[in-house]
Amino acid sequence: MRPEILYPLFAPVTTLPGVGPRFAKLIERLAGREVASLCWHLPSGIIDRRFSPKLAAAPVGAIVTLTLTVDAHLPPANRRHPYKVRCRDETGFVHLVFFHARPEYLARVLPEGATRVVSGKLERFGAELQMTHPDHIVTPAEGERLRAVEPVYPMTAGLPSKTLLKAVEGALDRLPALPEWIEPSYLKRRGWLPWREALLAAHRPQSEADLAPEAPARQRLAFDELLANQLALALVRAQQRRLPGRRIEGDGRLRQKAVAALPFALTGSQRQALAEIAADMASPSRMLRLLQGDVGSGKTVVALLAMLNAVETGAQAALLAPTEILARQHHKTIAPLAEAAGVELALLTGRDKGKARSRLLERLADGQTALAVGTHALFQEDVTFRDLALVVIDEQHRFGVHQRLALAEKGRAADVLVMTATPIPRTLMLTAYGDLDVSRLTEKPAGRQPIDTRTLPLDRLDEVVAAVERAIRQGARVYWVCPLVEESEAIDIAAAADRHAHLVRRFGARVGLVHGRLKGAEKDAAMVAFAEGRTDILVATTVIEVGVDVPEATVMVIEHAERFGLAQLHQLRGRIGRGTGRSTCLLLYQAPLGETAKARLRIMRETEDGFRIAEEDLRLRGAGELLGTRQSGLPVFRLADLSVHGELLAAARDDARLIVERDPTLMGPRGSALRTLLYLFERDAVVKTVRSG
Ligand code: ADP
Ligand code: MG
Repeated sequence: MRPEILYPLFAPVTTLPGVGPRFAKLIERLAGREVASLCWHLPSGIIDRRFSPKLAAAPVGAIVTLTLTVDAHLPPANRRHPYKVRCRDETGFVHLVFFHARPEYLARVLPEGATRVVSGKLERFGAELQMTHPDHIVTPAEGERLRAVEPVYPMTAGLPSKTLLKAVEGALDRLPALPEWIEPSYLKRRGWLPWREALLAAHRPQSEADLAPEAPARQRLAFDELLANQLALALVRAQQRRLPGRRIEGDGRLRQKAVAALPFALTGSQRQALAEIAADMASPSRMLRLLQGDVGSGKTVVALLAMLNAVETGAQAALLAPTEILARQHHKTIAPLAEAAGVELALLTGRDKGKARSRLLERLADGQTALAVGTHALFQEDVTFRDLALVVIDEQHRFGVHQRLALAEKGRAADVLVMTATPIPRTLMLTAYGDLDVSRLTEKPAGRQPIDTRTLPLDRLDEVVAAVERAIRQGARVYWVCPLVEESEAIDIAAAADRHAHLVRRFGARVGLVHGRLKGAEKDAAMVAFAEGRTDILVATTVIEVGVDVPEATVMVIEHAERFGLAQLHQLRGRIGRGTGRSTCLLLYQAPLGETAKARLRIMRETEDGFRIAEEDLRLRGAGELLGTRQSGLPVFRLADLSVHGELLAAARDDARLIVERDPTLMGPRGSALRTLLYLFERDAVVKTVRSG
């Protein structure tokens, strides 16, 4: 249960002053649903309202805070003109100017003869000084508070900045003083404030420097968030390590047969990865290893050979894919090799029903089927294995941790191998998996040609179409990708359908279309038609991103390339250059491009090295945007910025490791503070497992 001290922070934002249902929706979109989320919404700028000159000395164009006497209201002759209020101090006059004014309101806040403190930008209109729509009008008593450095928050349309300021103030008023979870000597060395004071300081910047991610208050908050992340991962990991594992050490006879049936030799990094995996499997503790390799680097073969290692000992192995298309593709790659090894292989997807499915499940349950490839259908409750010893999970970031565990549960102390084509930089890897063992496939299989990547503005579409036509005449097959933006799948699908219609008018029926709204069978049919060469062009939304293999495809056109994350572009581009023909990738962008966008597309032209691309993308855009979309499943940080806080992440990792070593149940003196930290950043699930474990 969440500690009581945190209750005020997890109340809905509607409990804050001035926040009704309408503003709550906007705040939710901007920051989040709960009070805590507003606490994490840090200022992005400042306005200095301390400057309080007399009118005669006030510089035009500056933000000034003036003490004025209200002289006279000057309503306009007609509605097109603004309402003016003339004010003065002992040195001069100024007009406060209001468009679309409400006279009753102005009479109330600026009564004639009264003294008011007014803050805003001073302008000149002809010979007169004026201030249009002052930011603040308050009484002299309130004026003192106003003469300060005001934080400016990232905004969203429709939410008045004053409403947001007030809501944040309300949230900060509720901050409890929390027990210190940072190790005292580290806290002292860094010179950080306690949590509450640090959060208040971060919301009350006194200078531009206080806004930087390197500012001490921001560093402390970032560290807290990273520590929660690392501690949660370390606890889960420690728990997995405590579970008994088993030694899996096959005699190699099945692997030999499969390797003999391969039409190519394994690359050095495939062999190295296999050795690392075999060593993990042979050790008595459970394997949790990530196999990372670019699209086309040959992960599937590695997976199969690891699986056969398990089968050689009489056990079973399963390979889990995120989509049906991918499951089928893996099955297709693996089937001839399994056959060569004389091992029974099953494919299980959501489409299997009735008698056929029951027969398949029986053979898995009694162990006659040694290898299973499938989608999440493999998780279903009635699926049982006689002795599942290895689970391989492809493209794991699309699966939640829970699903990963659910499949491992079906086994007896099963080893887990996770495969990903996402070239996650080391820093991000840490936040997503903690200290995970990693094998990397860094070599491209022999015979692959480099891809020629070019960038073009979208208004040169006609040239692109002409180039595609030439390529097709020479026998090329072409992917044409239209972007999928999260906000509106419907609009994007319409765009893809339009492009499809446009290309059909030009090329006739040999143009296919796939997108996320198609049924599984329709999607497969379009993919298969393209793979078998019955269509020359496949128009697609990003559904083709996940590793579908058509070695004959040598051209890829990507529209609005500037909207994609680099990792995503890299994955898409990896769909071509898989055969031995020369491949070309055309990145079409909407001009004009900003500096960052230009730099990003330049990287795509310069390199095919996924790790370099990922590191550069992290540097250019920050972690939040790295994979283009939130669906990546990587953790999203509110306070930490991994492009600058890498050193804090390393410190948090080391700290988490020590904590788990010394106090794995968090029962020691620092433990309860750390539990509060985990709840604060909503890692509750982990706290539960700690208690039960
Ligand atoms: P990934 O899953 O890493 O994207 P795959 O395992 O699907 O890559 O392999 C891509 C293609 O490369 C497949 O057709 C596979 O048979 C082939 N391949 C795998 N390893 C090698 C190798 N060592 N040499 C040549 N081709 C290979
Ligand atoms: Mg693959």
